[in-house]
Amino acid sequence: MTIPAMDNNPLFSHLQCRECGRRYPKDAIHVCEFDFGPLEAAYDYPAIAKAVTRAKIEARPRSMWRYRELLPIEGEPLVGKHTGFTPLVRANRLADRLGVKELYIKNDAVNFPSLSFKDRVVSVALSRAKELGIDTVACASTGNLANAVAAHAASAGLRSFVLIPADLEQSKILNSLVYGTNVIAIDGAYDQVNRLCSEVAGKYGWGFVNVNLRPYYAEGSKTLGFEIVEQLGWKIPRHTVIPMASGSLLTKVNKAYEELGKVGLVAETPYSIYGAQASGCSPISTAIKNNTETVRPVSKPQTIAKSLSIGTPADGYYAIRAMKKTGGTADDCTDEEIISAILLLAETVGIFAETAGGVTLACAQKLIASGAIPRDESIALCITGYGLKTQEAIAEHLGNPSVIKPNLRAFEALLEQPVQSI
Ligand SMILES: *Cc1c(COP(=O)(O)O)cnc(C)c1O
Ligand SMILES: [Zn+2]
Repeated sequence: MTIPAMDNNPLFSHLQCRECGRRYPKDAIHVCEFDFGPLEAAYDYPAIAKAVTRAKIEARPRSMWRYRELLPIEGEPLVGKHTGFTPLVRANRLADRLGVKELYIKNDAVNFPSLSFKDRVVSVALSRAKELGIDTVACASTGNLANAVAAHAASAGLRSFVLIPADLEQSKILNSLVYGTNVIAIDGAYDQVNRLCSEVAGKYGWGFVNVNLRPYYAEGSKTLGFEIVEQLGWKIPRHTVIPMASGSLLTKVNKAYEELGKVGLVAETPYSIYGAQASGCSPISTAIKNNTETVRPVSKPQTIAKSLSIGTPADGYYAIRAMKKTGGTADDCTDEEIISAILLLAETVGIFAETAGGVTLACAQKLIASGAIPRDESIALCITGYGLKTQEAIAEHLGNPSVIKPNLRAFEALLEQPVQSI
């Protein structure tokens, strides 16, 4: 079932096949009928260049919707008005530890409302779903997307179903259940969840944010890139490190940097984009390392970075192309390296990231050590989810609080103990 699209926004002109370039109407559709290529939102860039200026954007509310001319909806945003515009933190203490000059953390761990970058993609997907008259939304998720769909659907008054692999972290399951969504845990890996969702989407006509609404969903990721550039004073960072699951976020940050150049909001300076994966599920970084564009599926992901555990990444090929085109590359890291990186980030920047954040930092450390990322140029690391969602991963690696009696003597006795016990 497709609902005919309205056409109130001439800046967002149509959907277009990434393979053959055929044009499609702005409906709830995601694949080309001729070659099964993915459909992507297309814009009238010359008209956008005339419609926006830096000053106009800067005067708007501090949310991802300040870049609305470059987002695929018709009218006012209907869902997620407060999402985005998360902090970009200059991380000098961490820069010293890594031996680099200029380091920034884009902190989407504190995104509104559900504490991951998925709040961005869902704001766009559900705003478009409402415009299309869809009343039931759903997703296949590795955890964070389910949280974002559940929270945004609750606030928008939409019925929602979230389908997840049954072995997810407790906090991610709880953070979906609390919003009153229908949580369906599947006894299988993410790829099996996703396949089931495609069947359900075809049969029921629901809006699956990452299936039939994917062209809208994916565009939401661009706002992370737009914000980094604006927050750097309208400059593109020379190097950007991004965690990869399906590879969509990486391709869209690249699209964001390109678009800002195209519409004249930023100088088209050189930049490189790097992908980060966990070694226990690294189909994209493995392909890059083997110098091929053919992504070999991983049938049994095995890593604590469950949010990145997609064995058959839908945008893997396009992510590889984006990294190669910009002179970037990819790396992957072990679970031990993920845990060390989570602790390093927390202890030097005061940011508590989930396992995917550990993947970003651990891979950045490797890319810097190998010389792939030079030490004297600007580097942005994308932290995409909050640490309390994956407590299991690090609980055993932390000490315990010091327990004392409620009096000053006990406190002083504690201070006199050898330093490491405090
Ligand atoms: C989903 C997710 C990503 C990356 O997603 P893509 O499918 O590559 O767009 C990164 N970090 C976190 C925490 C996520 O939940
Ligand atoms: Zn096509």
